[in-house]
Amino acid sequence: MTSDPGYPTGITVAEARRIVMAEVEPLAAEIATSEEARGRILARPVVSGRTLPPADVSAMDGYAVRAVDLEAASTAAVSLPVVFEVAAGGAGARPLEAGEAARIFTGAPIPEGADTVVPQEQTERRGEQVVFDAAPPRGDHVRSAGEDVCEGDPVLPVGMALGPAEIGLLASLGRSLVHVHRRPRVAVLSGGDELVEPDRDPSGGRIVSSNAYSLSAQCREAGAMPTNLGIARDTPEDLEALLRGGLSSDVIVSSAGVSVGDHDHVRSVLERLGCRIRFWGVKMKPGYPLVFGRLGSTGPFVFGLPGNPVSAMVTFEQFVRPLLLRMAGHHACFRPVVQAVLAERLAKKPGRLHFVRVHLERDGASWQASSTGNQSSGVLRSMTLAQGLLVFPDEASEFEAGATVQVQVLDDAIFREIEPVA
Ligand code: AMP
Ligand code: MG
Repeated sequence: MTSDPGYPTGITVAEARRIVMAEVEPLAAEIATSEEARGRILARPVVSGRTLPPADVSAMDGYAVRAVDLEAASTAAVSLPVVFEVAAGGAGARPLEAGEAARIFTGAPIPEGADTVVPQEQTERRGEQVVFDAAPPRGDHVRSAGEDVCEGDPVLPVGMALGPAEIGLLASLGRSLVHVHRRPRVAVLSGGDELVEPDRDPSGGRIVSSNAYSLSAQCREAGAMPTNLGIARDTPEDLEALLRGGLSSDVIVSSAGVSVGDHDHVRSVLERLGCRIRFWGVKMKPGYPLVFGRLGSTGPFVFGLPGNPVSAMVTFEQFVRPLLLRMAGHHACFRPVVQAVLAERLAKKPGRLHFVRVHLERDGASWQASSTGNQSSGVLRSMTLAQGLLVFPDEASEFEAGATVQVQVLDDAIFREIEPVA
């Protein structure tokens, strides 16, 4: 019998996710240039201070006219004198009078009195005259003032991700600075006496600390800013000293040392540092030993992920990534899911939810999922082969070949086409 640790253990993935997401809020706003803000989330709305286009402008190179003057052109050609010219950025010399045409170029303001533009390809120029042989509808080829944006329009709402179109719109509104949510800062720590940095000799039972690399890359991919706290030896003192280096970050992600072995000190050291542990142990595979908590009520959230490379990555996917996205202000924080047809039979014992690394292949309008092979949590290569994680629910024990399954998509590249559609 073990005594009650004071926090839930052995909970489901859904319960664990609920606990992780319950407390997290978007980080404070900061001011960024629109270029720095790319991919980030607006924390304050953008209201337009301008009308775009500011005036009626020509959509074509051609002639500005009054449509009423060309009504007769539907039966016989009409010739008008070209009385002045307006270029983009310029202005009309004077208002257009009845029976006159003005030479105009794309983007140039429509002169007062004119209401229509006839493209030059539809006209014939004869010296100072221009000849029309059709009656255009009034307003043809005119971009009206405010057809894009009107002053006072709420153009970009809070929660909007800033992509190329939003950045272009901000520029056209003369806005170079925006309020976006701060990016989460993540301290990444590895623990284990056997671990060495990649440039060191890994002989004699040592292991390269690959987790610091995969987890940091996952942080960056989620828009967060990782720093590497290094490798802690398997002593409470060393672990505590390194963890202290992460106290000013938003999230601490440590890997290994969270199981029940004699050298697994992460939980006890976290508690000593004042961390309130919210849960330990999630009924999933890979990745059972997983601890989540927070230092104080405003300090960093802390994840003690399992040490096995695949378990570390998969638990990051399920819990750390959604938390980081929410901190960055995202509303939708979970991976897209596709329904796929299973290529082969899968079986497991009931009790834990399995995330099966699968290869996804398009099959007409649907997807086919096949296992990447050896699902050991030490086989990091399986993650390089996987485009998705198949959800094999807790209590299920078998999926027949041909069954429809749900797959979390890890790699958006599966949606790209080799051949263009248009
Ligand atoms: P542990 O959770 O400490 O029992 O570690 C589980 C397994 O993960 C062991 O085989 C470790 O060697 C391995 N491991 C732990 N940390 C890392 C790391 N940073 N990079 C790669 N493998 C690791
Ligand atoms: Mg260890």
